[in-house]
Amino acid sequence: MAAEIWAVVLCAGSSTRFGSDKLAALLGGRPVREWAQQTLRDHPQIAGVVVVGNGEGGATRQESVSMGLAQVPASATHILVHDGARPLLSAGLVDRLVAALLSAEQGVAPTLPVVDTIRRGEQLVERDGLSRMQTPQGGPATWMRAVHSGADATVTDDIELLLRAGHPVCFVPGEEANAKVTTVADLEHLKHFMKREVRTGLGYDIHRFSEDPRRPLWLGGQLFPDHPGLEGHSDADPLLHAVVDAVLGAAALGDIGLHYPNTDPRWRDRPSLLFLEEAAALVASKGWRVEHVDATVLAESPKVLPHRNEIQHNIGRACGIQADCVNLKATTLEGLGALGRKEGIAAMATATLSREIF
Ligand code: MG
Repeated sequence: MAAEIWAVVLCAGSSTRFGSDKLAALLGGRPVREWAQQTLRDHPQIAGVVVVGNGEGGATRQESVSMGLAQVPASATHILVHDGARPLLSAGLVDRLVAALLSAEQGVAPTLPVVDTIRRGEQLVERDGLSRMQTPQGGPATWMRAVHSGADATVTDDIELLLRAGHPVCFVPGEEANAKVTTVADLEHLKHFMKREVRTGLGYDIHRFSEDPRRPLWLGGQLFPDHPGLEGHSDADPLLHAVVDAVLGAAALGDIGLHYPNTDPRWRDRPSLLFLEEAAALVASKGWRVEHVDATVLAESPKVLPHRNEIQHNIGRACGIQADCVNLKATTLEGLGALGRKEGIAAMATATLSREIF
């Protein structure tokens, strides 16, 4: 029988020592609860993930695990239970647990050695043989379901139930980064295990002048009255379109045509600042923060730089950054080519994005 390993992630518990919902707290721009779920979903040897979330969780950890196990399909051969308050679960640790699960019929759990001297009150506790237990913990699905049915609600760890039932267990090396978030200080501590990923995206756009004298000219979210407008489905702002493409490009999320197709009547004559706001929100939902935008308008006319401040503010506001993190430049084409013949306006942009990764 081929192995089918499922994971249950517990995201239900209260956050009494945190002050607010610790699982909703942001770590690297993403809620704590999402990190380990994603790592498990992305792992090639994990067949599926069941999340026991807020509102549907049990009164005790034990009840929550039972609710999760009930949602794991009967075809699962092994089940790992992970605490959602341990966001920085690494794929490497999942590798080690999976290897242990597949090597023998046994329960598995990550542990770390105790290096500090431990006392209970004034009494010295012999440190030898002590270890700190982490999650994910688990074992063969039949064992997990059996030990959890009618289990002692005061037991806070799955491996203890397997041991009490007389099953063999295997401990694999845990990781300091796989620490549990209990206090705000714990969350701060986790940031030491993360690094910043920086990416740059490129955008280019061009629109021809419209023959419709009523079409207004928009550049960088700024109206240029008394100047011929550009042809296009939305407000045809090539500068903002180039910035949207740069932002989406840096996050590897496609381009403006993918998200706002010009066949969609919803975008007809819509202000392009809306696209930029939505693109910034989309990249933010993936943990990205816009750090910097640099853009150049290529046009014989109008003169753009007198409106440099307003445009930099427009772009900054839409991206959620200060205007001094936006730079606008402009150049003419020396009369060369289509742009030089004043047939249209083009713009190019780069965007720098960063996010915290583990
Ligand atoms: Mg365009």
